[in-house]
Amino acid sequence: MAKPNLLTIVPAKWAGLSAAKPDEGAVNFILHGRDEYAPESIDYVLSFYPPPGLLKTFPNLKAAFSLGAGVDGFLRDPDYPKRVPLVRFADETLSAEMAQFVLMHVLIRHRHQRLFDEAQSKRKWRQMVLPRRTEDTRIGMLGLGEIGSFTAARLMKLGFPVAGWSRTRKTLPGLKSFAGDGELAAFLGQTDILVCLLSLTRKTAGILNAKTFTAMPEGGFVINVARGGHLVEADLIAALDRGQLSGAVLDVFGEEPLPESSPLWSHPKITVTPHIAAISQPAVALKFVLDGIAKFERGERPDNIVDVETAY
Ligand code: NAP
Repeated sequence: MAKPNLLTIVPAKWAGLSAAKPDEGAVNFILHGRDEYAPESIDYVLSFYPPPGLLKTFPNLKAAFSLGAGVDGFLRDPDYPKRVPLVRFADETLSAEMAQFVLMHVLIRHRHQRLFDEAQSKRKWRQMVLPRRTEDTRIGMLGLGEIGSFTAARLMKLGFPVAGWSRTRKTLPGLKSFAGDGELAAFLGQTDILVCLLSLTRKTAGILNAKTFTAMPEGGFVINVARGGHLVEADLIAALDRGQLSGAVLDVFGEEPLPESSPLWSHPKITVTPHIAAISQPAVALKFVLDGIAKFERGERPDNIVDVETAY
């Protein structure tokens, strides 16, 4: 039987992906922009942000694989061929990286590390006690999926009280679960540090907005590691400037790379990182994709097929 053709449409840093082949020979790798190919020869696509309109030109496409946990890069394409199963990358290595990133920033905030950095820069010996105890610092996870629930468990191990908000109610040991639009305000009202790990859908776009920030206790802190589309940037800046929020960590942005002119770069209460909270590792992602292709070829369906209508 002929080997399936896998078209990889990836940024330059991923161009060596096919060199990481864990299962040499299972597929023919075709690199978009480098190799010539006939559209009808493409069986599978692997990408993060494929050019809109491209996938509909592949009449024999059997499935598309996202290099990331989110699929917004595919579904921003109004011509995404809905008959084609879309598989998102999910792996514990990704959840573990994200948990590290979130824990690091929760602790930097909780232990006021930025104040000590500032004091050091002025050669000032400035001792202070924590204004809030760990058991009184309430963390709220917006989103309790693959990554949110993993991260919540790690935060609870550090002694933080953790609650979560999701579409459906969860039963995770030790976690207070809020579900649906009707319970969002109550969830926010008891959240000191808000961590966004929602999928980006029509319903969750713009959820980090003025109303949300006002519903949190004064002096709240926000960490957005999901997608830039969740945040209304102007509302965040206004909430920080009037002291409703005390700080924010942003890893994802409406426009990436974040333009040099963005006020987010220089805001004294914002930490900006360049979408690096959890990066898919090429060898792990590739194994995931090759396993998925093998399943499709056997007539099975792999896990993590996204509902194209709900977008997650
Ligand atoms: P996931 O498993 O699909 O989980 C998504 C969560 O969002 C679920 O708990 C889901 O609720 C909830 N949700 C979706 N729509 C909702 C709604 N209308 N109301 C309430 N809750 C809703 O996603 P994941 O793999 O954990 O990824 C989470 C986010 O992290 C994604 O946005 C992804 O793109 C992002 N991410 C970022 C990076 C980075 O480097 N910054 C890396 C990896 C992932 P139910 O469970 O009830 O369905």
